[in-house]
Amino acid sequence: MSRFDTAFETGGVLIIGAGLAGLFAALKLAPRPVTVLSPDPLGQGASSAWAQGGVAAAVGAGDSPEDHADDTLKAGAGIVDEATARSVAREAAARIEDLARLGAPFDRDEEGHYMLSREAAHGRARVVRVAGDRAGRAIMDALIEDVRATPSISVVEGVIAVDFAVAEGRVIGVFARAAGDRYATPLFFRADATILAAGGLGGLYAVTTNPSRVRGQAMGMAARAGAVIADPEFVQFHPTAIDLGKDPAPLATEALRGEGALLVDEGGRRFMPEVHPDAELAPRDVVARAIFAQIQAGHRPALDARAALGTEFGEKFPTVMGYLQEAGIDPSIQTIPVAPAAHYHMGGVRVDAHGRSSLGSLWVCGEASSTGLHGANRLASNGLLEAVVFAARVAEDVEKQVSESLPAALPELLPRADFSAEGELRNLWAVHELRQTMSDDVGVVRDAEGLKRALRKIARLEREAAGASRSYLNMTTAATMVAAAALRRTESRGGHFRSDFPETDPAWAHRTEITLDEALAIRAAAVEEAR
Ligand SMILES: Cc1cc2nc3c(=O)[nH]c(=O)nc-3n(C[C@H](O)[C@H](O)[C@H](O)COP(=O)(O)OP(=O)(O)OC[C@H]3O[C@@H](n4cnc5c(N)ncnc54)[C@H](O)[C@@H]3O)c2cc1C
Repeated sequence: MSRFDTAFETGGVLIIGAGLAGLFAALKLAPRPVTVLSPDPLGQGASSAWAQGGVAAAVGAGDSPEDHADDTLKAGAGIVDEATARSVAREAAARIEDLARLGAPFDRDEEGHYMLSREAAHGRARVVRVAGDRAGRAIMDALIEDVRATPSISVVEGVIAVDFAVAEGRVIGVFARAAGDRYATPLFFRADATILAAGGLGGLYAVTTNPSRVRGQAMGMAARAGAVIADPEFVQFHPTAIDLGKDPAPLATEALRGEGALLVDEGGRRFMPEVHPDAELAPRDVVARAIFAQIQAGHRPALDARAALGTEFGEKFPTVMGYLQEAGIDPSIQTIPVAPAAHYHMGGVRVDAHGRSSLGSLWVCGEASSTGLHGANRLASNGLLEAVVFAARVAEDVEKQVSESLPAALPELLPRADFSAEGELRNLWAVHELRQTMSDDVGVVRDAEGLKRALRKIARLEREAAGASRSYLNMTTAATMVAAAALRRTESRGGHFRSDFPETDPAWAHRTEITLDEALAIRAAAVEEAR
């Protein structure tokens, strides 16, 4: 008997993942009963709680959704879906009001107006924030309280989804197992509507800012079920993760550079002015590559906030200050070592304007999805915005479909599926090797040779792990999708930089769609070539 044999009453709607996208969708669907799966206690294991900057929205005087959309289009390097950018920017203010109503304690001035931060590539201050750098934690705390107080939402903590159940092209539920318990009986959650909100894939890389729970399993699981994936090659690397050997690497928010902190090498020499006219405030991908080049050349790049912030550092950036104190660094007298880290996935499961995937009865929202909003490079703080805008759209669409066209059958919770051939991956080294491969060969700077090498390694790791957990297979699948699409895109654009194709090619000025079969064919060709 597993500890989940107790029957749950759900309303036919299953939400996989309990970050901002999953919880906001659950609250929007109330009072319709929903079941939310969370591998960890609510609030843990989600990128959402770690967001420092805030939510982008044109709510300031003189700003407009059109300007916000224009900045989004520019940041996305020519392949943002314009209709999506414009509609998301228009809906932003309403979603901020929703969050405020749900208790998010956004910073306000004495007259009650939102206090806004300015972040890279935004034409003006446009980021709604909480206590400087605590937006994610504060928003999630508020939503978790609401979720706990909403009787229609059942939260199942401690389970991880591993496989979709698909019948006649339609997702009819998900197989799951107790997180971290290889002896647990697999479970089957049947659902009339399934919402995948299980986050991005930063943790697939050895150096990442994402929680270790977020390792591409959402995209991998959907791809294995046959869903079309869009733009997987576009991974955003945050230039300034704090480089003290911690996994995941804590983030030194971009706002520090906005406040005047400088990037220097170990000798205190600034290196950004010779790279870009905007120096430290150049676009994220440019700064990330410059820092990467410094590291490759044997330097030790660091952020110097001594003159810009001095002793005010802790007051203005309490979260970052906490990380530094833990590491024994005093930023008023010391520099902060930094390195680029996998931070955000622009690609994901392809969805339409309602968040519908290519598989029937599967909706996807948050970082797991690819809506077309980000193109080749996400505009800062559009991640949380996309999560709430699309979670709301998905909730509306699911509500309509479930009440109009599907019987409101109560899904059962019953163990099924033959997992007997599956063992838990015994060798943690395999996960380590996978992540190192992604950082080495599918990272900030890519080329054909490295990408093919990565595809061959991923194929070997999969072969060697025959019979390993499906969770691991979801990771190797996600890695395959990213590397194969990166090999196919023979140009550089936004977050995707190819040293063998350093220019942007107008012929590639479009989004990419790829299925697992297509990615596996690219991988097989790379394996064949090396024989
Ligand atoms: C350090 C950091 C700072 C950031 N700062 C900002 C910012 O200031 N502004 C901004 O807009 N964006 C920011 N981002 C990005 C933003 O936080 C994410 O894009 C956003 O939170 C994604 O929300 P989500 O709900 O899709 O995913 P997440 O919040 O990552 O939640 C995913 C959920 O799915 C669960 N899960 C994973 N796999 C499974 C599985 N197999 N089965 C069941 N559940 C699963 C996870 O445990 C988690 O509960 C930041 C990200 C990081 C890491």
